[in-house]
Amino acid sequence: MDTHTIAAIATPQAAGGIGIIRISGAGALSVAERVFVPASGKSLTRSAGYRAYFGRVSHNGKDIDEAVCLVFRAPHSYTGEDVAEISLHGGLFVMQKALKAVIEAGARPAEAGEFTKRAFLNGKLDLSGAEAVMSLISAQNEQASQAALNALEGSLSREIKSAAGDIIAVAANIAAWVDYPDDDIEEISAERLIAVFTGVLERLEKLLSRFDSGQAVTEGVPAAIAGRPNVGKSTLMNLLTGYERSIVTPYAGTTRDVVEETVRVGNVVLRLSDTAGLHETDDPVESIGIGFAKKKLERASLILAVFDGSDELTQEDIKLLEFCSKRPSVAIINKTDIAQRIDVNLISSYINKTVEISAATGEGLSELCDAVEQTLGTDAFDPSSAMLATERQRDCCRRAAGYLDEAIAAVESCMTLDAVNVCADACIDALLQLTGEKAGEAVVNEVFARFCVGK
Ligand code: GDP
Repeated sequence: MDTHTIAAIATPQAAGGIGIIRISGAGALSVAERVFVPASGKSLTRSAGYRAYFGRVSHNGKDIDEAVCLVFRAPHSYTGEDVAEISLHGGLFVMQKALKAVIEAGARPAEAGEFTKRAFLNGKLDLSGAEAVMSLISAQNEQASQAALNALEGSLSREIKSAAGDIIAVAANIAAWVDYPDDDIEEISAERLIAVFTGVLERLEKLLSRFDSGQAVTEGVPAAIAGRPNVGKSTLMNLLTGYERSIVTPYAGTTRDVVEETVRVGNVVLRLSDTAGLHETDDPVESIGIGFAKKKLERASLILAVFDGSDELTQEDIKLLEFCSKRPSVAIINKTDIAQRIDVNLISSYINKTVEISAATGEGLSELCDAVEQTLGTDAFDPSSAMLATERQRDCCRRAAGYLDEAIAAVESCMTLDAVNVCADACIDALLQLTGEKAGEAVVNEVFARFCVGK
């Protein structure tokens, strides 16, 4: 591990009330001392940890700013190394000048995520904890930040370690029995093996099934508004975004481009596309829009299918209902503020989540939020329970579950305990890759490369 002292601006690259330069490594305090002079005249290199000093940052004999320097001593710091954090007045020019001084004093610029990577390599947090730091930074709502904080505090690692622990205990028992046939080690019964493997498998499957609703809350899901021209898709889009975005006209087929917006619907973030209608057309420009719309619909994790309640269902509506019946969708019967002619029962026979709204007046919006949450399963989302937060974690969990399936099949088909243990070992490896205990360097580097500099 590269232990050279590193430094970076830890606050956003913009003007602010305070900006922080973080320095970490064995030489952090001597580097800090070369640029920062405490007003008290005390020495930073001889300072104990958890101390704050008021003083001045200067470079080549010229004062840059007044500042406060926090001192952390290894291992009691974010990275587990000696750390100095210098808080200055946050102007970008001043911050960059101070960082230049720190670099000239002997630190090298930190790479993206390098502070957190060092925290990981020094055992301050595991890989899923590091990913939780990333989720916390990008959290856009209360539930997402709660879930990230719980992960940071170890909810996922505890669950994974406990699952791995169960398998390790069994694998150790099998290995001892196979390797030391003369010793008096009790042979583990097939029933016991199956019970342990299925118990852990169920726990992993629960984590996997919560992944999608977790993603919906934290990352947002791709969703599309669909419906024939003039049913009120653009009006609905404008209602959800809170401002005029799509062109609303009383003429059919006026929404030609796919308009995309990120909107919050209840607790869910939708990356929503407003699409052109799916009708047949001779207009070449319009037909390009319809092509895009179809692709969007096929890729969407949720379809909001809009129907005009004041009109009877058309062939095009039925086509859309058939398309949606096999996919997660909510049927939205719009224009409840005027006389209704639509066959609601026919709609519910295709899509069981149906809500009646008026996109023009906003009536029915909270019912729509509930329907979206129920369809995506986020209404039961509990941010305090362990949750897989990244595709990488899901992939490890899926592989571990796959090896357990194989282990169970091996026991059931009376294969040798050696064969069973190969599957159990592979399962343990996948779980330890998830927490980072067995992750290769390439995986670790990839996780941290997605961080920002200074974190
Ligand atoms: P799109 O083609 O599906 O995007 O439909 P628009 O949003 O452009 O709306 C078509 C027409 O229906 C416009 O004249 C809207 O004002 C009208 N409209 C949309 N929603 C409602 C509603 O809830 N109630 C009533 N009365 N009219 C609506």
